[in-house]
Amino acid sequence: MTEEAPKFKLNDGNEIPSFGFGVFQIPADGSTYKAVSQALKDGYRHIDTAVAYFNEQEVGKAVRDSGIPRNQIWITSKMWLQDYAYEDANKSIDRTLKKLGLDYIDLYLIHQPYGKVDEAWQAMIEAQKAGKIRSIGVSNMTPKIWQKWADKGIFNKKMPAVNQVEFNPYFQQKELRQIMSQNHVTLEAWAPLGEGNHSLFAEPLLNNLAKKYGKDVGQIILRFEHQEGIIVFPKSIHEARIKSNLNIFDFELTSDEMDAIRNLDQGHGAHNPDAPGTGEMLLNAFDVHAND
Ligand code: NDP
Repeated sequence: MTEEAPKFKLNDGNEIPSFGFGVFQIPADGSTYKAVSQALKDGYRHIDTAVAYFNEQEVGKAVRDSGIPRNQIWITSKMWLQDYAYEDANKSIDRTLKKLGLDYIDLYLIHQPYGKVDEAWQAMIEAQKAGKIRSIGVSNMTPKIWQKWADKGIFNKKMPAVNQVEFNPYFQQKELRQIMSQNHVTLEAWAPLGEGNHSLFAEPLLNNLAKKYGKDVGQIILRFEHQEGIIVFPKSIHEARIKSNLNIFDFELTSDEMDAIRNLDQGHGAHNPDAPGTGEMLLNAFDVHAND
C-alpha cells in the first residue's frame, strides 16, 4: 500500500494534498470518470481539472460516487479566459459548482493571465468570502506577467495561494520560484512529467537513479519535484501508471542527487506565456460554452 501524500500549508491556512491527479486531455466519454475513480481508489485525494478540459462533470460524478467524504478530497478547477469580465466570472464559478455537483471548490484558478484578470480576481475574492471557493490562485504567470498584475495592485486585495505553471527537470522556473517564495505563494507543476517527453525519460542520470532505488523514471522525476516543495498532479489514463506515479513516498533522494537533477534545467519550457499574441491565440482556440 502506498504511503499517503503529505499536505502542504498554503498562505491562506488551507492544507492541500501535495500530490494529485491531472485530467487535461482525458475525454468526457466515460474515460475521465474511469480514470478519476481509479485514482481515488488508489489513494489520490486531489484532482486538477478546468472549465477548458470539458470534463468537470465526470470529475464531480467520480468524486460523489467514490464514497470518500467530501472534505477528504481536494478539487481544483480553473476559469477560462473568455469569462473574465466580472459578471461572466461569477457565472463561471456557479457553472463549475453545478457541473461538479458539489457545494464548494477547494481551489479555483485564473487559467490564463490575459484580459480582464482584475475583474475575474475580484469575483473570485467575493466567491471565496461567500464560501463557494476555499482557496484562489493563478496559473501561467511568468515573472513578467506576475509583476504586471502586482503593479496594478490586484494582489494587494488578496495574494494568490498558488501559481500553477509548467515545471519539470528541464524547466525548473528558478527566477519565478524566488518571486513566489518571497510572496509565500506555492508553486504547482503542470506537465510534471514533461508530458511524457522521450528525452527526459531517457536521461542517464534519471535512469541510474531509477535503478538505484528500484523505481521507474517517472517516480524519480515526481520524487524530485516533491522534495523541491512543489505540488504535482501527473495525468495518466493507464491503471498501472496511475498506481506507480503515486508510489514515491517510501524513498528519498540525497542532496547530491537533488543537485544533479537541478543541473538538468534548460531554463525554458514547451509553452512561453510571454510570447506576443498568446492570449489572443488561446481565446480564439475554442469556446468553452459551445455546448452549454
Ligand atoms: P504530465 O507531465 O502529467 O504528463 C502526462 C503524459 O505522460 C501523458 O501522455 C501520460 O500518458 C504520460 N505518463 C504518465 N505517467 C507516465 C509514466 N509514469 N511514465 C511515462 N509516461 C507517463 O502532463 P499534463 O499536461 O497532463 O500535466 C499534468 C496536469 O497539469 C494536467 O493533467 C492538468 O491537470 C494540469 N495542466 C495545467 C495546465 C495549465 O495551463 N494550468 C496546462 C497543462 C496541464 P498516458 O495517459 O498514456 O499514461
